[in-house]
Amino acid sequence: MKSGLVRVRIPPSPTGFCHVGTARMAILNFLFARRHGGQIIFRSEDTDKERSNAAYEEDIIESLKWLGLEWEEFYRQSERTLIYKKYLEQLINADKAYISVEESKKEPGKMASVVRLRNPGTLITFHDLIRGDITFDTAELKDFAIARSVVDPLYHFAVVADDAEMSITHVIRGEEHISNTPRQILIQEALGLARPQYAHYPLHLAADKSKLSKRKGDVSVRDYREKGYLPQALLNYIALLGWTPPSGREVMDLNDMIKEFNIEDLHRSGAVFDIEKLRWFNRQYLTKMPEKIFANETMRIMAETLDVRGVAWSENVGRSLVTLVRERISVWEDLRALVSEGEFDYFFTDPKLDRAEIPEKGKDPANAARHLDTINKILADSPNELFADQNKIKEAVWSYATKEGRGAVLWPFRYALTGRARSPDPFEVAAIIGKEPTLRRINSAISILGNA
Ligand code: GLU
Repeated sequence: MKSGLVRVRIPPSPTGFCHVGTARMAILNFLFARRHGGQIIFRSEDTDKERSNAAYEEDIIESLKWLGLEWEEFYRQSERTLIYKKYLEQLINADKAYISVEESKKEPGKMASVVRLRNPGTLITFHDLIRGDITFDTAELKDFAIARSVVDPLYHFAVVADDAEMSITHVIRGEEHISNTPRQILIQEALGLARPQYAHYPLHLAADKSKLSKRKGDVSVRDYREKGYLPQALLNYIALLGWTPPSGREVMDLNDMIKEFNIEDLHRSGAVFDIEKLRWFNRQYLTKMPEKIFANETMRIMAETLDVRGVAWSENVGRSLVTLVRERISVWEDLRALVSEGEFDYFFTDPKLDRAEIPEKGKDPANAARHLDTINKILADSPNELFADQNKIKEAVWSYATKEGRGAVLWPFRYALTGRARSPDPFEVAAIIGKEPTLRRINSAISILGNA
């Protein structure tokens, strides 16, 4: 291997779905390695047999790839027992570690073997790329356990052996691992291995400043994916959680971020995960999405969600709603929510009208009926092409509305079409639903008013 080549590791423990913390660790390692022309090792740290699960490993790999990350090498610790055994035997043979038979902590009364490091109890100082020099007195760690047996290493030991075997130059991880570092350095020193450079970045916190935990299901990458967040947006947001690029830019793709990434620029205090900011990022990417792709996805989600509500889908109507949708949503789940709440029903099906709501508040129903009747006549006599352009519809009724009072005329018109107190204006709705449904809905409002 070329000397000076940067090699980092992405070493998740597959004991849960890929949460934002795992993604952040992976992104920071990725950016650092790529910035320095280095290599990335993915290492599944599955030595905890009870808690590790292949499905979690798969989820982590899939989620990180979905975000756009990649790596050069892949390892699984459960397949490397013989390598750890070699290192453990080396320590035991040199009397730097010993096997001791002790009462099990988990099952009192039962004796179990454990391999312990002979801890010289020295002061350990290491230089952290983010936090500067850090010193630990290791005496209090005593002769800590490094394995259950030569074929059953504990986490610290496997990590140290692997970091050396894989020529890892930089260990970039969250600050929850700081207190592990002196233990790992003691093991390295006992084995005569080189010390990698360390960088411990602050954790990010939930909005209420409490610790984010992987058990909170809503912080897994797959959850965001299912809600319809775009991978570029989630990646962008997580990368900038606790990092401000020198240019101050916010919306950046991986290549932009690689160019600007310096590990020293990571913030020294914990960032707060802000869902509104993530939604903002997602909206930026939705806005940049090519028209056709956006339209197809909008129509797919609408058709699917309307179907659940038993509302008949029309491709033509759906297509003309795309622009309106683009203005209103930040994430695809917003569209699903709007459609599920019936927000778009009236575009596809005639609304139920409440007689009392047809006139503008406080206005006479007879006048509302008269205005609707006039609009009906104007529109019925107009050529069909009028409905291709909402501005033409507006022009056709505008002078009448201005003369009679815009609210008094346009409220009943709009309500007749939508059945809602709030909705887009009647010209836009009429243009989307077309001439025949427009006239039908106006007539039905007139007859409801007449049936007092
Ligand atoms: N496997 C450890 C974890 O998921 C990370 C170990 C390390 O970065 O040294 O917390």
